[in-house]
Amino acid sequence: MKASPPLPPLPEGVFLRAERLVKKFGDFVAVNGVSFDIPRGKVFGFLGPNGSGKSTTIRMLTGLLTPTDGRAVAFGGLEVTRDTEAWKKRLGYMSQKFSLYLDLTVEENLRFFGTVYGLANHRLAERIGALADRLHFRRLLGTVTESLSTGMRQRVALAASLLHEPELLFLDEPTGGVDPKGRRLFWDLIYELAAERGMTVLVTTHYMDEAEQCDSLAFILNGELIAQGAPHELKRRIAGRLLEVPLEGEPFAALAKVRSAPELEDAYLFGLRLRALAREGSVGAASALLGSLGTPEPAEPSLEDVFVDLARDYARTHEEKAA
Ligand code: ADP
Ligand code: MG
Repeated sequence: MKASPPLPPLPEGVFLRAERLVKKFGDFVAVNGVSFDIPRGKVFGFLGPNGSGKSTTIRMLTGLLTPTDGRAVAFGGLEVTRDTEAWKKRLGYMSQKFSLYLDLTVEENLRFFGTVYGLANHRLAERIGALADRLHFRRLLGTVTESLSTGMRQRVALAASLLHEPELLFLDEPTGGVDPKGRRLFWDLIYELAAERGMTVLVTTHYMDEAEQCDSLAFILNGELIAQGAPHELKRRIAGRLLEVPLEGEPFAALAKVRSAPELEDAYLFGLRLRALAREGSVGAASALLGSLGTPEPAEPSLEDVFVDLARDYARTHEEKAA
């Protein structure tokens, strides 16, 4: 085997680093030079529309997919692509299309995955019991998996990825199709694991309330990372420019009146209020315009507002490049 030079250590507190990761499928670039740091013991949210390259990035970070270029480096100087076997022991992965055997019982599934991870019998029984209690499915251990609801299958799949007590857990859209109560339970556990055991979590989600709770976020579009930071840091980019007016009268008429005004980047209805994002440098003019509808006040941006703005900026930059 070719000897490789030792890797420089990661900065304090960083558990996994993606360095300019690229993945091409033929001529198609699915992931285009993505770099980010996942902090140790934190919940890292990875966001982006369908097809933007989230799952492909995760598969490279797990070592299941070889990057076309770039690399992933973990704490302790381990390079994911080179030290794949050692790396796999340290991570749990719940894929978007998680694979439980539908004709096996819940317990049989967990025993199967535990054996794959190389857990000894007594340890496996102990872990299955502990996870079945914590995730509230002990009464279903003997049930055939096929008869479980989506939410319950997801809990069992989560348990399967936690059997070997991984240091890092990858969750690819874990709560899609799960009811609110199930989502809550799921997230409580994720935070408990991150806080109590120092487990690091990377999670993709479409739910903005879930993204809001993450310690740190990265947003990917067309295979490119376009923003990262804590939720409050990301919100700063539009804070001060987002205004809100309580409406009296016909909301749609109010919206139509200001929608295409040059002072505004965007305007939309928010219940019986109108929200508008002032163009950079036009807060005064935007306030004056909105003053014709009511009394404008600064509004607290949601992550959704931030992402819509990021995507708009991205589209604009790319149109300019193409022109
Ligand atoms: P996301 O998880 O953000 O929805 P994916 O990483 O699954 O996005 O996919 C990113 C892009 O790469 C999509 O356009 C998808 O069709 C494409 N893609 C993913 N896997 C393959 C593959 N094995 N072969 C060809 N194209 C792929
Ligand atoms: Mg995906």
